[in-house]
Amino acid sequence: MADKRDYYEVLGVEKNASDGEIKKAYRKLAMKYHPDQNPGDKTAEEKFKEINEAYEVLSDADKKARYDQFGFAGVDPNFAAGQGGGFGGFEGFEGFDLGSIFGDFFGGGGRSQRRGGPTRGQNLGVEISLTFEEAAFGCEKEITIGRVEPCSTCGGSGCKAGTKPETCSKCGGRGTIRTQQNFMGMTMQSESPCPACGGKGKIIKEPCNVCKGKGKVRRNKTLKVQVPAGIDHGQSFRLRGEGNSGTGGGPSGDVIVTVSVKPHPLFQRDGANVLCEMPITFPQAALGTEIEVPTLDGKVRYTIPEGTQTGTTFRLKGKGIPYVGYKNRGDQYVTVVVETPTSLTREQKELLKKFADTVGEDGQPKRKSFFEKLKSNFDS
Ligand SMILES: [Zn+2]
Ligand SMILES: [Zn+2]
Repeated sequence: MADKRDYYEVLGVEKNASDGEIKKAYRKLAMKYHPDQNPGDKTAEEKFKEINEAYEVLSDADKKARYDQFGFAGVDPNFAAGQGGGFGGFEGFEGFDLGSIFGDFFGGGGRSQRRGGPTRGQNLGVEISLTFEEAAFGCEKEITIGRVEPCSTCGGSGCKAGTKPETCSKCGGRGTIRTQQNFMGMTMQSESPCPACGGKGKIIKEPCNVCKGKGKVRRNKTLKVQVPAGIDHGQSFRLRGEGNSGTGGGPSGDVIVTVSVKPHPLFQRDGANVLCEMPITFPQAALGTEIEVPTLDGKVRYTIPEGTQTGTTFRLKGKGIPYVGYKNRGDQYVTVVVETPTSLTREQKELLKKFADTVGEDGQPKRKSFFEKLKSNFDS
């Protein structure tokens, strides 16, 4: 994290840049570093990723506000959760809207509710597990969340059918009361929340028996989720307005879906690139061969040239993973591993010894010395 560059710096804009300026800067840089313009250029690819990450945050009013306030910790789930810290840290962090946290803790007695102003509902965090392929190509998933919704029985009013909330007679509906105190001969006036109505300004005489007068209920809701192609382990995306419902006409929170990707038996992932190893035999490496390489699109034939060394990596262009939001894909890098045979038969050993006798200490075929050549001429 320490070596991460500031998002404004990445896009080369001022901190107070307008949305339009941010967009313009992003477009210019994205064109310049787009993988299509720079095939095989790792530095450009890294830059392109960095630019996209910066733009993803700075183009989203919500994320931008959090980034401005908390830095990377405000927008990176890994940052808050820490290593193996689980999801709790993230969820707690996501609900940084203090008004709604207090609202939940103190059963509606929170500061912002006393004022009666609209409060945005809390965000909810969900983790989904994907296979390597599901993350690579995107998929549809169903998730079930427990969220706070307006009570359907009373329509959110909190009142029993046929009744209405009454205006609080103590505060006249304002939700606050003025108190006067004498302090060293001076009269001090202060406002405090109305104790009769808890600051709501209204009193429910006959509460709805489903929500007990809260106007809200917790329900399990199943959502169909479109997982974007190219998403990687630990990344998250947002389902806008699917979180807890707001208070006092405030908007609903979001659902933040964080992705965990199961390991693949053959493939590893490095951004949009797929890495894999292919074992080949010593004769195949020495003589050259055609092998079948597994890719995300099925098997591909590839010709290994003769004299290939172990650890040689070759590239299958466009066989990697799509960049999120783009059609084009990364590449697949295949590293050849030459396997040393372990259980040779006697005959194979004899053959290999004969071969070994023809190899010099430099690994190249032995050249007979002048005298050996002379000797063999006399022998025959
Ligand atoms: Zn109700
Ligand atoms: Zn009152």
